[in-house]
Amino acid sequence: MSEAVNPRTGTGTGTEAAAGAAAGVTVRVPAKVNVQLAVGGARPDGFHDLANVFLAVSLYDEVTATPAAALTVTCEGPDADKVPLDRTNLAARAAELLAARHGIAPDVHLHIAKDIPVAGGMAGGSADGAGALLACDALWGLDSSREELLEICAELGSDVPFSLVGGAALGVGRGERLTELPVGGAFHWVFAVADGGLSTPAVYGEFDRLNEGMTVPGPVASPVLLDALRTGDATALAGALANDLQPAALSLRPSLAATLAAGTDAGALAALVSGSGPTTAFLVKDAESAESVAAALVASGTCRTARVATSPAAGATLLG
Ligand code: ATP
Repeated sequence: MSEAVNPRTGTGTGTEAAAGAAAGVTVRVPAKVNVQLAVGGARPDGFHDLANVFLAVSLYDEVTATPAAALTVTCEGPDADKVPLDRTNLAARAAELLAARHGIAPDVHLHIAKDIPVAGGMAGGSADGAGALLACDALWGLDSSREELLEICAELGSDVPFSLVGGAALGVGRGERLTELPVGGAFHWVFAVADGGLSTPAVYGEFDRLNEGMTVPGPVASPVLLDALRTGDATALAGALANDLQPAALSLRPSLAATLAAGTDAGALAALVSGSGPTTAFLVKDAESAESVAAALVASGTCRTARVATSPAAGATLLG
Protein backbone atom coordinates (compact mmCIF):
# COMPACT_ATOMS: atom_id res chain seq x y z
CA MET A 1 0.00 0.00 0.00
CA SER A 2 1.22 3.47 -0.79
CA GLU A 3 2.30 5.24 2.39
CA ALA A 4 0.37 8.29 1.23
CA VAL A 5 -2.96 6.44 1.57
CA ASN A 6 -4.96 6.31 4.81
CA PRO A 7 -6.32 2.71 4.96
CA ARG A 8 -9.66 3.66 6.50
CA THR A 9 -10.52 6.61 4.32
CA GLY A 10 -8.59 5.72 1.19
CA THR A 11 -7.70 9.37 0.82
CA GLY A 12 -4.18 10.26 -0.15
CA THR A 13 -2.18 13.42 -0.38
CA GLY A 14 -0.33 15.01 -3.24
CA THR A 15 -0.40 14.50 -6.97
CA GLU A 16 -0.06 10.69 -6.84
CA ALA A 17 -3.44 10.31 -5.12
CA ALA A 18 -5.06 12.87 -7.39
CA ALA A 19 -3.80 11.07 -10.50
CA GLY A 20 -5.00 7.72 -9.08
CA ALA A 21 -8.46 9.09 -8.38
CA ALA A 22 -8.67 10.45 -11.91
CA ALA A 23 -7.85 7.01 -13.39
CA GLY A 24 -10.27 5.12 -11.14
CA VAL A 25 -13.33 3.07 -12.08
CA THR A 26 -16.24 3.05 -9.60
CA VAL A 27 -18.95 0.42 -9.36
CA ARG A 28 -22.08 0.68 -7.21
CA VAL A 29 -23.43 -2.60 -5.76
CA PRO A 30 -26.66 -3.26 -3.80
CA ALA A 31 -27.38 -5.16 -0.60
CA LYS A 32 -29.93 -7.98 -0.66
CA VAL A 33 -32.73 -9.34 1.42
CA ASN A 34 -33.82 -12.97 1.14
CA VAL A 35 -37.59 -12.85 0.83
CA GLN A 36 -37.55 -16.64 0.99
CA LEU A 37 -34.67 -18.70 2.27
CA ALA A 38 -35.60 -22.40 2.19
CA VAL A 39 -32.78 -24.53 3.57
CA GLY A 40 -32.37 -28.28 3.02
CA GLY A 41 -30.38 -30.67 5.20
CA ALA A 42 -26.56 -30.54 5.29
CA ARG A 43 -24.92 -32.14 2.21
CA PRO A 44 -21.86 -34.38 2.46
CA ASP A 45 -19.71 -31.35 1.46
CA GLY A 46 -21.12 -29.40 4.44
CA PHE A 47 -23.10 -26.98 2.27
CA HIS A 48 -26.91 -26.91 2.26
CA ASP A 49 -29.19 -27.06 -0.75
CA LEU A 50 -31.18 -23.85 -0.89
CA ALA A 51 -34.14 -22.29 -2.59
CA ASN A 52 -33.11 -18.72 -2.08
CA VAL A 53 -35.25 -15.86 -3.38
CA PHE A 54 -33.04 -12.79 -3.46
CA LEU A 55 -34.28 -9.23 -3.77
CA ALA A 56 -31.76 -6.40 -4.21
CA VAL A 57 -32.44 -3.33 -2.05
CA SER A 58 -31.31 0.28 -2.35
CA LEU A 59 -28.49 0.22 0.22
CA TYR A 60 -25.20 0.35 -1.66
CA ASP A 61 -21.45 -0.06 -1.36
CA GLU A 62 -19.21 1.60 -3.94
CA VAL A 63 -15.96 -0.03 -5.00
CA THR A 64 -13.34 2.09 -6.78
CA ALA A 65 -10.43 0.42 -8.57
CA THR A 66 -7.35 2.49 -9.41
CA PRO A 67 -3.98 1.40 -10.81
CA ALA A 68 -1.40 0.70 -8.07
CA ALA A 69 1.99 -0.94 -7.60
CA ALA A 70 0.42 -3.84 -5.67
CA LEU A 71 -2.98 -5.15 -4.55
CA THR A 72 -4.25 -2.96 -1.68
CA VAL A 73 -7.65 -2.48 -0.05
CA THR A 74 -8.97 0.53 1.87
CA CYS A 75 -12.40 1.09 3.35
CA GLU A 76 -14.45 3.98 4.66
CA GLY A 77 -17.86 4.08 6.36
CA PRO A 78 -19.44 3.55 9.78
CA ASP A 79 -18.49 -0.18 9.89
CA ALA A 80 -15.09 0.23 8.18
CA ASP A 81 -13.14 -1.01 11.21
CA LYS A 82 -14.88 -4.43 10.89
CA VAL A 83 -13.79 -4.96 7.28
CA PRO A 84 -10.59 -6.97 6.68
CA LEU A 85 -8.10 -5.11 4.49
CA ASP A 86 -5.96 -8.14 3.64
CA ARG A 87 -6.32 -10.81 0.96
CA THR A 88 -9.34 -12.31 2.75
CA ASN A 89 -11.42 -9.31 1.67
CA LEU A 90 -13.78 -10.57 -1.04
CA ALA A 91 -12.92 -7.54 -3.19
CA ALA A 92 -9.23 -8.48 -3.10
CA ARG A 93 -10.03 -12.13 -3.86
CA ALA A 94 -12.15 -11.05 -6.83
CA ALA A 95 -9.26 -9.00 -8.25
CA GLU A 96 -6.87 -11.94 -7.74
CA LEU A 97 -9.16 -14.48 -9.44
CA LEU A 98 -9.81 -12.20 -12.42
CA ALA A 99 -6.11 -11.36 -12.84
CA ALA A 100 -5.09 -15.05 -12.55
CA ARG A 101 -7.52 -16.00 -15.33
CA HIS A 102 -5.87 -13.48 -17.62
CA GLY A 103 -2.28 -14.13 -16.54
CA ILE A 104 -1.78 -10.58 -15.28
CA ALA A 105 -0.72 -9.18 -11.90
CA PRO A 106 -3.58 -7.99 -9.65
CA ASP A 107 -1.92 -4.61 -9.14
CA VAL A 108 -4.84 -2.46 -8.12
CA HIS A 109 -5.97 -0.28 -5.25
CA LEU A 110 -9.53 -1.14 -4.25
CA HIS A 111 -11.34 1.43 -2.17
CA ILE A 112 -14.66 0.41 -0.60
CA ALA A 113 -17.13 3.11 0.44
CA LYS A 114 -19.19 0.89 2.73
CA ASP A 115 -22.82 1.63 3.52
CA ILE A 116 -24.08 -1.99 3.75
CA PRO A 117 -24.02 -3.28 7.36
CA VAL A 118 -21.07 -5.67 7.92
CA ALA A 119 -21.85 -9.29 8.88
CA GLY A 120 -25.52 -8.33 8.84
CA GLY A 121 -26.95 -10.98 6.51
CA MET A 122 -27.24 -8.44 3.68
CA ALA A 123 -24.35 -9.80 1.58
CA GLY A 124 -22.11 -6.75 1.97
CA GLY A 125 -18.90 -8.69 1.42
CA SER A 126 -20.43 -10.42 -1.61
CA ALA A 127 -21.44 -7.02 -2.98
CA ASP A 128 -17.84 -5.81 -2.70
CA GLY A 129 -16.60 -8.97 -4.44
CA ALA A 130 -18.97 -8.42 -7.38
CA GLY A 131 -18.18 -4.69 -7.44
CA ALA A 132 -14.42 -5.22 -7.46
CA LEU A 133 -14.76 -7.80 -10.23
CA LEU A 134 -16.67 -5.44 -12.50
CA ALA A 135 -14.42 -2.47 -11.63
CA CYS A 136 -11.18 -4.41 -12.31
CA ASP A 137 -12.60 -5.85 -15.52
CA ALA A 138 -13.27 -2.30 -16.75
CA LEU A 139 -9.99 -0.87 -15.41
CA TRP A 140 -7.92 -3.61 -17.05
CA GLY A 141 -9.95 -3.46 -20.30
CA LEU A 142 -10.68 -7.20 -20.20
CA ASP A 143 -14.25 -6.98 -21.48
CA SER A 144 -15.21 -10.31 -19.88
CA SER A 145 -18.58 -11.76 -20.82
CA ARG A 146 -21.42 -11.84 -18.28
CA GLU A 147 -20.98 -15.66 -18.13
CA GLU A 148 -17.26 -15.37 -17.31
CA LEU A 149 -17.95 -12.82 -14.57
CA LEU A 150 -20.74 -15.00 -13.13
CA GLU A 151 -18.39 -18.01 -13.05
CA ILE A 152 -15.85 -16.07 -11.00
CA CYS A 153 -18.64 -14.76 -8.76
CA ALA A 154 -19.78 -18.33 -8.03
CA GLU A 155 -16.19 -19.25 -7.14
CA LEU A 156 -16.06 -16.32 -4.70
CA GLY A 157 -19.21 -17.28 -2.78
CA SER A 158 -22.85 -18.35 -2.98
CA ASP A 159 -24.29 -14.82 -2.73
CA VAL A 160 -21.82 -13.10 -5.10
CA PRO A 161 -23.53 -13.92 -8.44
CA PHE A 162 -26.71 -12.23 -7.23
CA SER A 163 -24.80 -9.08 -6.26
CA LEU A 164 -23.70 -8.81 -9.89
CA VAL A 165 -27.18 -9.47 -11.31
CA GLY A 166 -29.42 -7.54 -8.85
CA GLY A 167 -33.18 -7.18 -9.29
CA ALA A 168 -34.76 -10.39 -8.03
CA ALA A 169 -33.64 -13.96 -8.60
CA LEU A 170 -34.13 -17.52 -7.42
CA GLY A 171 -30.86 -19.16 -6.41
CA VAL A 172 -30.66 -22.95 -6.17
CA GLY A 173 -27.79 -25.31 -5.38
CA ARG A 174 -25.79 -23.42 -2.75
CA GLY A 175 -27.84 -20.43 -3.92
CA GLU A 176 -25.41 -19.53 -6.71
CA ARG A 177 -27.33 -21.01 -9.68
CA LEU A 178 -29.59 -18.10 -10.54
CA THR A 179 -32.78 -17.60 -12.48
CA GLU A 180 -33.82 -13.97 -12.74
CA LEU A 181 -37.38 -13.22 -11.57
CA PRO A 182 -39.83 -10.58 -12.75
CA VAL A 183 -40.90 -7.94 -10.20
CA GLY A 184 -44.13 -6.03 -10.85
CA GLY A 185 -43.62 -2.98 -8.62
CA ALA A 186 -41.60 -1.28 -5.90
CA PHE A 187 -41.51 -2.70 -2.37
CA HIS A 188 -40.64 -0.57 0.68
CA TRP A 189 -38.42 -1.86 3.46
CA VAL A 190 -36.93 -0.91 6.79
CA PHE A 191 -33.79 -2.67 8.01
CA ALA A 192 -32.94 -2.68 11.72
CA VAL A 193 -29.18 -2.95 12.11
CA ALA A 194 -28.12 -4.84 15.23
CA ASP A 195 -25.02 -4.30 17.32
CA GLY A 196 -22.36 -6.80 16.27
CA GLY A 197 -22.63 -9.41 13.52
CA LEU A 198 -23.58 -13.07 13.30
CA SER A 199 -21.28 -15.50 11.53
CA THR A 200 -23.06 -17.17 8.61
CA PRO A 201 -21.33 -20.57 9.24
CA ALA A 202 -22.31 -20.35 12.93
CA VAL A 203 -25.97 -19.79 11.97
CA TYR A 204 -25.93 -22.78 9.60
CA GLY A 205 -24.27 -24.80 12.39
CA GLU A 206 -27.12 -23.86 14.72
CA PHE A 207 -29.64 -24.75 11.99
CA ASP A 208 -28.05 -28.24 11.81
CA ARG A 209 -28.10 -28.56 15.60
CA LEU A 210 -31.79 -27.54 15.83
CA ASN A 211 -32.71 -30.02 13.07
CA GLU A 212 -30.59 -32.92 14.30
CA GLY A 213 -32.36 -36.27 13.88
CA MET A 214 -35.17 -34.70 11.84
CA THR A 215 -35.87 -35.09 8.13
CA VAL A 216 -35.38 -31.68 6.56
CA PRO A 217 -37.57 -31.39 3.43
CA GLY A 218 -35.99 -30.44 0.10
CA PRO A 219 -36.07 -26.66 -0.39
CA VAL A 220 -38.71 -25.38 -2.81
CA ALA A 221 -39.53 -21.80 -3.85
CA SER A 222 -43.05 -20.77 -2.86
CA PRO A 223 -45.33 -20.19 -5.90
CA VAL A 224 -47.37 -17.71 -3.81
CA LEU A 225 -44.26 -15.68 -3.07
CA LEU A 226 -43.06 -15.69 -6.69
CA ASP A 227 -46.52 -14.53 -7.75
CA ALA A 228 -46.50 -11.71 -5.17
CA LEU A 229 -43.16 -10.50 -6.57
CA ARG A 230 -44.42 -10.72 -10.15
CA THR A 231 -47.56 -8.71 -9.38
CA GLY A 232 -45.86 -6.24 -7.00
CA ASP A 233 -48.38 -7.10 -4.25
CA ALA A 234 -46.84 -6.10 -0.91
CA THR A 235 -49.62 -7.61 1.22
CA ALA A 236 -49.30 -10.98 -0.53
CA LEU A 237 -45.51 -10.83 -0.26
CA ALA A 238 -45.82 -10.06 3.46
CA GLY A 239 -47.85 -13.26 3.93
CA ALA A 240 -45.29 -15.36 2.08
CA LEU A 241 -41.96 -14.10 3.53
CA ALA A 242 -40.06 -17.05 5.02
CA ASN A 243 -36.57 -17.63 6.36
CA ASP A 244 -35.66 -21.15 7.53
CA LEU A 245 -32.54 -19.70 9.21
CA GLN A 246 -34.63 -17.45 11.46
CA PRO A 247 -35.02 -19.96 14.36
CA ALA A 248 -31.24 -20.50 14.33
CA ALA A 249 -30.49 -16.76 14.27
CA LEU A 250 -32.99 -16.20 17.11
CA SER A 251 -31.48 -19.06 19.07
CA LEU A 252 -28.03 -17.45 18.82
CA ARG A 253 -29.38 -13.92 19.33
CA PRO A 254 -32.67 -14.11 21.33
CA SER A 255 -32.83 -10.30 21.59
CA LEU A 256 -33.81 -10.16 17.89
CA ALA A 257 -37.35 -11.25 18.88
CA ALA A 258 -37.88 -7.86 20.54
CA THR A 259 -36.70 -6.04 17.40
CA LEU A 260 -39.09 -8.07 15.22
CA ALA A 261 -41.97 -7.29 17.61
CA ALA A 262 -41.11 -3.56 17.72
CA GLY A 263 -41.37 -3.33 13.93
CA THR A 264 -44.66 -5.20 13.62
CA ASP A 265 -46.13 -3.25 16.57
CA ALA A 266 -45.20 -0.06 14.67
CA GLY A 267 -47.25 -1.16 11.63
CA ALA A 268 -44.89 -3.19 9.42
CA LEU A 269 -46.75 -5.64 7.16
CA ALA A 270 -44.27 -8.38 8.09
CA ALA A 271 -40.91 -8.86 9.73
CA LEU A 272 -38.13 -11.39 9.29
CA VAL A 273 -34.47 -11.94 9.96
CA SER A 274 -32.46 -10.96 6.87
CA GLY A 275 -30.50 -14.01 5.66
CA SER A 276 -28.34 -15.27 8.52
CA GLY A 277 -28.98 -12.07 10.49
CA PRO A 278 -28.67 -10.23 12.76
CA THR A 279 -30.15 -7.48 10.56
CA THR A 280 -33.95 -7.69 10.65
CA ALA A 281 -36.09 -6.70 7.66
CA PHE A 282 -39.54 -5.10 7.76
CA LEU A 283 -41.79 -4.96 4.72
CA VAL A 284 -43.99 -1.84 4.89
CA LYS A 285 -46.79 -0.54 2.70
CA ASP A 286 -45.23 2.73 1.47
CA ALA A 287 -42.47 5.31 1.94
CA GLU A 288 -44.36 7.15 4.69
CA SER A 289 -44.87 3.96 6.68
CA ALA A 290 -41.15 3.18 6.20
CA GLU A 291 -40.20 6.45 7.91
CA SER A 292 -42.55 5.88 10.87
CA VAL A 293 -41.52 2.23 11.36
CA ALA A 294 -37.83 3.24 11.20
CA ALA A 295 -38.40 5.97 13.82
CA ALA A 296 -40.28 3.52 16.08
CA LEU A 297 -37.50 0.92 15.77
CA VAL A 298 -34.85 3.45 16.76
CA ALA A 299 -37.03 4.72 19.64
CA SER A 300 -37.57 1.12 20.86
CA GLY A 301 -33.87 0.82 21.66
CA THR A 302 -33.86 -2.72 20.22
CA CYS A 303 -31.43 -1.95 17.38
CA ARG A 304 -28.36 0.17 16.65
CA THR A 305 -29.96 2.03 13.76
CA ALA A 306 -32.70 1.64 11.17
CA ARG A 307 -32.34 2.15 7.42
CA VAL A 308 -35.06 2.74 4.85
CA ALA A 309 -34.76 1.19 1.37
CA THR A 310 -36.74 0.18 -1.69
CA SER A 311 -36.56 -2.78 -4.04
CA PRO A 312 -35.84 -4.02 -6.57
CA ALA A 313 -32.43 -2.35 -7.07
CA ALA A 314 -30.09 -2.76 -10.05
CA GLY A 315 -27.11 -5.11 -9.73
CA ALA A 316 -23.46 -4.02 -9.92
CA THR A 317 -23.39 -0.86 -12.05
CA LEU A 318 -20.41 0.99 -13.51
CA LEU A 319 -20.58 4.64 -12.46
CA GLY A 320 -17.49 5.63 -14.47
P1 ATP B 1 -24.17 -12.89 3.82
O1 ATP B 1 -25.45 -12.13 3.87
O2 ATP B 1 -23.66 -13.10 2.41
O3 ATP B 1 -24.15 -14.13 4.63
P2 ATP B 1 -23.14 -10.95 5.63
O4 ATP B 1 -23.83 -9.72 5.12
O5 ATP B 1 -23.73 -11.60 6.82
O6 ATP B 1 -23.02 -11.97 4.45
P3 ATP B 1 -20.63 -9.68 5.28
O7 ATP B 1 -20.89 -8.23 5.51
O8 ATP B 1 -20.46 -10.11 3.89
O9 ATP B 1 -21.70 -10.58 6.00
O10 ATP B 1 -19.35 -10.04 6.16
C1 ATP B 1 -19.09 -11.34 6.66
C2 ATP B 1 -17.60 -11.43 6.99
O11 ATP B 1 -16.88 -11.43 5.77
C3 ATP B 1 -17.06 -10.23 7.75
O12 ATP B 1 -17.13 -10.42 9.12
C4 ATP B 1 -15.64 -10.11 7.25
O13 ATP B 1 -14.73 -10.77 8.10
C5 ATP B 1 -15.62 -10.82 5.91
N1 ATP B 1 -15.42 -9.94 4.73
C6 ATP B 1 -14.62 -10.22 3.68
N2 ATP B 1 -14.68 -9.24 2.77
C7 ATP B 1 -15.53 -8.32 3.23
C8 ATP B 1 -15.99 -7.09 2.71
N3 ATP B 1 -15.56 -6.60 1.54
N4 ATP B 1 -16.90 -6.40 3.42
C9 ATP B 1 -17.33 -6.91 4.60
N5 ATP B 1 -16.90 -8.05 5.15
C10 ATP B 1 -16.01 -8.77 4.47
